[in-house]
Amino acid sequence: MSAVRTRFAPSPTGYMHIGGMRTALFNWLWARHNGGQFILRIDDTDQQRNMDAAIGPILRAFRWLGLDWDEGVEVGGPHGPYFQSQRGDLYQAAAARLLEQGLAYRCYSTPEEIAADRAAAEAEKRQYVHVRRSLELTDAQLQQYHEENRPYVVRFLMPRDEAIVIDDLIRGRVEFDPKLISDPVIMRTDQTPLYNFATVIDDSHAEISHVIRAEEHLSNTPIQLRIHEALGHTPPLFAHVPYVAAPGTKEKLSKRKLDKYRNNPQFKRLFERGDEILPKIGLGDSAGLDPVMVEYYERMGYLPDAMVNGLARLGWSLDDKTEIMSRKTIVDNFSLDRVIKSPAGLDPDKLLSYQAHWMGELSDEEKMDACLPYLTAAKFIEDPDDDKTREFIGRLIAAVADRLKVFSDILDYEEFFVADDALQYDEKAFAKRITKPEDAVDLLTKFQPVLETVEPFDAANLETALKSFVEEQDTKIGRIIHALRIAVTGKPAGPGMFDCLELLGRERCVSRITLVLSRV
Ligand code: GLU
Repeated sequence: MSAVRTRFAPSPTGYMHIGGMRTALFNWLWARHNGGQFILRIDDTDQQRNMDAAIGPILRAFRWLGLDWDEGVEVGGPHGPYFQSQRGDLYQAAAARLLEQGLAYRCYSTPEEIAADRAAAEAEKRQYVHVRRSLELTDAQLQQYHEENRPYVVRFLMPRDEAIVIDDLIRGRVEFDPKLISDPVIMRTDQTPLYNFATVIDDSHAEISHVIRAEEHLSNTPIQLRIHEALGHTPPLFAHVPYVAAPGTKEKLSKRKLDKYRNNPQFKRLFERGDEILPKIGLGDSAGLDPVMVEYYERMGYLPDAMVNGLARLGWSLDDKTEIMSRKTIVDNFSLDRVIKSPAGLDPDKLLSYQAHWMGELSDEEKMDACLPYLTAAKFIEDPDDDKTREFIGRLIAAVADRLKVFSDILDYEEFFVADDALQYDEKAFAKRITKPEDAVDLLTKFQPVLETVEPFDAANLETALKSFVEEQDTKIGRIIHALRIAVTGKPAGPGMFDCLELLGRERCVSRITLVLSRV
């Protein structure tokens, strides 16, 4: 195969959609698998303002996932500029060539004429196809229109004789009836190009070998193929990737960041978790992050390797069983013929299972480095470089163990950072475990002095101490352990009880028991 060159060409929307990211990943994988190049260009128009805000999150998503590009925005390359808005000359020159060769024409049809043509087609129950009225104009009329400066668009003269066949690398052979395709507008009245035209020029100019993109563009492909041919290009190969469905549905995961997914049972949990966590790190409502966007996962502390694993499995498989795959395994094995033809449903639970695996591959030190920014942003700690702080966080992470599913989960352990009198109690658990049982207060009262004497104050010694205390009191460990946990952490569940005591240290444990005893 000649050099593989793929591209991703997002519009500058201000965020990176998770489905778009999957398409981009497939392009990147195909390029990397073949030792080819991946190009990142921007399908913008002149009207767009504030380009940094519009493409920043897109580039950020690529960088976060480690998907590098060989040519394109910011990195440059021999086929630039990589912004459509800066390539006007190329499009105009190509349109002029087509006009000259009679492969395109100036169309003077007015919106009223077109509306009437459409209405007539509808009345006759046939598909509307653009009426080539302007091709009937005489030279004298054309000259007159020209002198009048009459507005026109440029339309490509779609050949209508031969069926158009696309050998799509994912969909297989797809045939289109050219008699049903309107001559597409390629240049607007203001001489700006339309997508179907600009894309053809860009793909050819950048020597793209494979156009891998969303299946919604399959219907544009016959037009693009014919334009390539008219311009004398060798067309690229096409591969149309099925859409990503919303969790648990067959419904396309909409492009817009929408609240409608709040009611989707699986997404709901992500939304709610985001509502809880993001404001704590200064990314509240105004940041507008939601689980349709790649940045949501970054900010919540998912791992790039888990995302790449999950996104690759959205419609592609290595075989019929392998779920966990490293980046290298995916690159080594990626092929377009194993992309499935039906939509793939995004599954947040599955994503979490990849996450759990890749999290398990990290050392506690690596986890700490990733958790510290969360703790700092949430003001749980002041100085992430302080040795004592790091030592403490290292121990906390070891105790939390695989309860830490994504890095922001570390913010669930506020009890290890708050002042004793600011500790929040789970009220239901407090009532059930401390207020209601007859013996809980008595046992806590009697165990408090034991805590004063345990030396050293570590999990193993604390466990021995509690066991002998329970024996002395002729009671069962279950009678005190829940009460004790709630007294010192405020919560009914969490890391191992003795780890919690050790982490908090003698002083805080004793003081928290005093506070609880004064509360009942
Ligand atoms: N800007 C287009 C889109 O985002 C690119 C389509 C293509 O890949 O040709 O849908």
